[in-house]
Amino acid sequence: MLKRVLLILSISAISMTINAMNYSVSFSKVKSHYVTVDVEFNVRDKAYVDFKVPVWTPGSYKVREFSNAFENVSADNLEIKRLNKNTWRIFTGGQSQVSLSYDVYCFTVSVRQSYADEYYAFLHGVSVFGYIDGYENEQIDLTIHPNDNWANVEVSLPRTKNSKHSYRCSNYDLLADSPLAIGNFDTIDYTSGDVPHKIVMIGKGNYDLKKVMEDFKKISDTQIEMMGSHPSSQYVHFVYNVSQGGGGLEHANSQTSMMPRWNYTNSNKYRSFLGLIAHEYFHLWNIKRIRPKELGPFDYEREVYSEMLWIAEGITSYYDDITLLRMGAYSKEEYLKIITSQINRLENSPGKTVMSLAHSSLLAWVKAYLPNEESSNKTISYYNKGMVVAVILDLKIRSSSNYSLDDVMRKLYVDFYLENNRGFTYDEFVGVCSEIAGKDMSIFLNDVVYSLKPINYDIFKEFGLDLTIDRSYSTKPWSGISTELKGDRIMVTNIVSNSPGVESGLSVNDEIIALDDWRLKFKFEDYLSRYKIGNRIKIMYSRDGKMRTTHLRFSSNPIIKYNLLVAEETNKKLLGWLNQ
Ligand SMILES: [Zn+2]
Repeated sequence: MLKRVLLILSISAISMTINAMNYSVSFSKVKSHYVTVDVEFNVRDKAYVDFKVPVWTPGSYKVREFSNAFENVSADNLEIKRLNKNTWRIFTGGQSQVSLSYDVYCFTVSVRQSYADEYYAFLHGVSVFGYIDGYENEQIDLTIHPNDNWANVEVSLPRTKNSKHSYRCSNYDLLADSPLAIGNFDTIDYTSGDVPHKIVMIGKGNYDLKKVMEDFKKISDTQIEMMGSHPSSQYVHFVYNVSQGGGGLEHANSQTSMMPRWNYTNSNKYRSFLGLIAHEYFHLWNIKRIRPKELGPFDYEREVYSEMLWIAEGITSYYDDITLLRMGAYSKEEYLKIITSQINRLENSPGKTVMSLAHSSLLAWVKAYLPNEESSNKTISYYNKGMVVAVILDLKIRSSSNYSLDDVMRKLYVDFYLENNRGFTYDEFVGVCSEIAGKDMSIFLNDVVYSLKPINYDIFKEFGLDLTIDRSYSTKPWSGISTELKGDRIMVTNIVSNSPGVESGLSVNDEIIALDDWRLKFKFEDYLSRYKIGNRIKIMYSRDGKMRTTHLRFSSNPIIKYNLLVAEETNKKLLGWLNQ
């Protein structure tokens, strides 16, 4: 009853403030990669309004300064003053209606930015649509005026009745979160969870569209079955087929995923692509709806900090692979190898003794998204450790209860999103994990999230799995130096902290020329078999053109290699986990 009263109140509050804004997009300057956006809105009795452009895009934690591409901002003959990098103040001069116009330079092929030419346009919401400060909750009608030879206007928004290419957004957040593809594309539809889905192929490739559709549908069916329902009324997969590249970005009712166009017939690469699709699709729930409290509604003008990106990305990374296992694309053995590779990556990261999972999340803006040659020594990935933690968390829940991490995700979805439409705090997340597990999970979670303590993998034994450690590398000589052959030059690309390489004084970007006075022809690592632990070698190298000499003494290789092997095929807990 209380909920019903609140609902009626909130609907009447919205209806009093609705004042439709009209955005339109046209392409008369598209040969020079400019897209024109017109915005009409009612300013009521304000002396001025501020037009703002986001500095970052949700889902990618980097300041990208989208205003860099905005040109020709004008509003009829009204006075406009540029206040700062992303704000234009429009003085209304007593007018009630303002028509704002601007051009956006769209020349970046990316899931996070926009591109347009005479053949097609892919428009990423935050990078082309600014907002009027204080009007973010106004309803928006969006009209696209495609070029005559463009047959497709694709966006995951409901159509308005009055025009073929007009769409309605309840607020700016939805406009910002709704990418558009305009041009001529192969498309195919499917239905999953009673929700219409569409695949839009931006760019050509060697795909079999029907097979792609069948595989995407399996992903959708598998995840909707797990989560109980689909949160959207429609969904679009934008697949960006490119010469080279990768990655994806989640949206409220769509995803954009990049695929090298000729990789569809390579079964391993195609399966990795399905993993990407499953990852972005699972974000429909985990981050777009199940979210740490900091991650929405967004402040588009500055960084949004969260210590819980590992929940959004690590747990999603766990579910993208397990989706492929559940739909039959991975065998159990293949799946265990994926977990093993993630454990090996984490356990051999020098950064694991420097950066906690919480800080990896919090500092994504200046660490993960601004990597440099020292990053591997000082940072860990919240995708990587977050995924490993998700595995252990799931097994611990399964061990102490009849439930699993699936139940945690469903409960977070229902309790926080569906019933309260809000994000959760870390303590609330721990509380839900503890409630589902039937025991206090705070010590385990605090340790793996906030401390640098090693992860305890003993839980695998309960599931009939042996995590073996291969230390045979310790008999091999090691320098801690990685090199790459660039042309005929052997360049240092990475040096592990506290390694013989650091002791030698070599740096990233040094060119190694000779070992013990013999010129190198191959990568430095290719010569290690000539040496033993304890050998001291002379290295001639060039730094910024100046020839230098140093010595390096090899130590033993600290790399450890884990293997996760099935010890008890019939272990009931193992079967419950992997045969679900
Ligand atoms: Zn993700």
